[in-house]
Amino acid sequence: MDIETKIWKINPSAVADYSRQIDEAVRLLEKGEVVAFPTETVYGLSADATCEQAVDKIFRAKGRPADNPLIVHVAEYEQIGMLVTSIPGMARKLIDRFMPGPLTLVLKSNGTAAKNVTAGLDTVAVRMPDHPVAIEVLKASSVPLAAPSANRSGRPSPTDADHVYQDLHGRIGGIIDGGPTGVGLESTVVDCTGEIPVILRPGGITREQIEQVTGEVMVDPALADQKDQPKSPGMKYTHYAPESPLWLIDGDDSFFLDQLENLEQEGSRVGVIASSELATQLLDKRVISCGSRDDLKEIAVHLYKALREFKKSDVDVILCESFPEHGVGEAIMNRLEKAAVKKINQF
Ligand code: AMP
Ligand code: MG
Repeated sequence: MDIETKIWKINPSAVADYSRQIDEAVRLLEKGEVVAFPTETVYGLSADATCEQAVDKIFRAKGRPADNPLIVHVAEYEQIGMLVTSIPGMARKLIDRFMPGPLTLVLKSNGTAAKNVTAGLDTVAVRMPDHPVAIEVLKASSVPLAAPSANRSGRPSPTDADHVYQDLHGRIGGIIDGGPTGVGLESTVVDCTGEIPVILRPGGITREQIEQVTGEVMVDPALADQKDQPKSPGMKYTHYAPESPLWLIDGDDSFFLDQLENLEQEGSRVGVIASSELATQLLDKRVISCGSRDDLKEIAVHLYKALREFKKSDVDVILCESFPEHGVGEAIMNRLEKAAVKKINQF
């Protein structure tokens, strides 16, 4: 693949001044091309969700397995109704409280979304992003847009237009560069087709926040036990992998320092991804701080950039700190466990 990838720079706080760029991007989408745009979670790679050939280009550009369905993005509540057979009460409550925002609902599809969008399932995943550029593109487009994260399959999701360029330059029609994204992790995927909402993928909206709205909430057991078959097909694949193998260390700071020292004594070049609290103890090392361990939202914002930063030519192994699994920490640890090839626990 080697096609021209157009780049449009748009200031998200002044989208009204960029109607020419938005129009150009939307025209490409209407011709069946794929275009990346920023959302509040990560960059998405979009195509007409009703057109199988256009959607197929997303799968090919990313190298994404065909059995991993895509999230359909909409700008208006009414567009959700156009994609599904019905919106159950709990879904309506979640829509009222969290949309637009980093929440995706799985509902019964009415067949409007192309069948490769849903990977042949009878359900469709829907979300309304909370980002002025994404909303402007969706409003200007006459159709809903399917949009997975705009990375090559298996790589960390892009939180900046540069990351999209690194992965997909020459493979897609264009990139709308709206600067860095906000949340830094993908949306929470919630299955609303049963009696009780089920979290299929933890993300930007926490389990605690969902519980406050729906009372009860379940978590797909496959998230805790790798042996179970996940209900969200994408959760079974290798994901978020940095260039060098990542080891996830679960223990106190002195345990972490011991692991680092052991590896260095064996002659390994080690990169570290850590909180600022641990990073300050490692000033003479190759270390990337993602923020204070007391501010998990800050860690989420910087995590994917950190996973892309260490190159194979610089480090043989990446040691990464574990974080508490409450609030957005649940999503952070879900991503790190998928990115890791090895886990070392102190206890
Ligand atoms: P991504 O687009 O890369 O952020 O990934 C989308 C996630 O949503 C993947 O984990 C998919 O498996 C999941 N997903 C999309 N559609 C459905 C669906 N209809 N049922 C269950 N999971 C879905
Ligand atoms: Mg993805």
